[in-house]
Amino acid sequence: MIRSHAQGGVDRLGEMIAAAKIIVPFTGAGISTETGIPDFRSPGGLWTRNQPIHFDEFVASQDARDEAWRRRFAMQETFAAAHPGRGHRALASLYRAGKIPAVITQNIDNLHQDSGFAADHVIELHGNTTYARCIGCGQRYELDWVQQRFAQHKAAPDCPACDEPVKTATVSFGQAMPEAEMQRATELAQHCDLFLAIGSSLVVWPAAGFPLMAKRAGARLVIINREPTDQDDVADLVIHDDIGEVLGPFIRN
Ligand code: NAD
Repeated sequence: MIRSHAQGGVDRLGEMIAAAKIIVPFTGAGISTETGIPDFRSPGGLWTRNQPIHFDEFVASQDARDEAWRRRFAMQETFAAAHPGRGHRALASLYRAGKIPAVITQNIDNLHQDSGFAADHVIELHGNTTYARCIGCGQRYELDWVQQRFAQHKAAPDCPACDEPVKTATVSFGQAMPEAEMQRATELAQHCDLFLAIGSSLVVWPAAGFPLMAKRAGARLVIINREPTDQDDVADLVIHDDIGEVLGPFIRN
């Protein structure tokens, strides 16, 4: 394993990208911090302000649903103002070049789609916060609709069709992982020759199992994160640096 900072790591990464035929990126909140969306665990991150609301709590309590939606609306300006960062744009360049078949992401911010990935080529393990769904019948609702109902009734709305709660289309703690996405991510991890874990603390399971799965299936593993992770020791290359700085040189317009 090579641990690297700055230029040496970028050069080595460039060689590995050039040599690879199928590259699968796996992204976490760190790829989006330069767009203004905070991650969970860094100082100032979302968890230093709010503990997450578990799925059971959301289902059981109107107060918890109200609080979850108040928090989501409080973040709306931040999400709406965010544009793809250098990391997203570099991955989109490699996607357009035919090197990346799809991206696996823990992120919920829609920025891979905004950077040019087809929606079907973004495997969202934890869903998407830019719209909502009924947790009963799965009907999609836009956030504007939720916000209007909330303002009108001073409470988080239920689905008009089936009366079940409406929630951001994300996977909360305690909620089942999406089966189809887990299956596609497994296939991608097992059939690539280079796996890039980018901006994830690699502590949220089962998502954090994909880098190890790719490595065991024979891929080379690169971890790009400014802090160490528990999986650094098994990686072929570890770059502890800013993602925008590391991936910026791979942007092609
Ligand atoms: P995390 O907060 O646990 O870890 C992010 C990691 O990225 C940290 O180790 C941090 O040091 C690193 N990092 C932050 N900015 C960086 C930068 N510019 N350059 C290099 N490294 C940087 O996030 P996670 O592992 O994705 O897991 C937490 C969960 O939080 C995910 O499941 C995701 O669903 C959710 N989340 C998503 C978003 C988003 O969609 N943008 C934001 C916050 C949380």
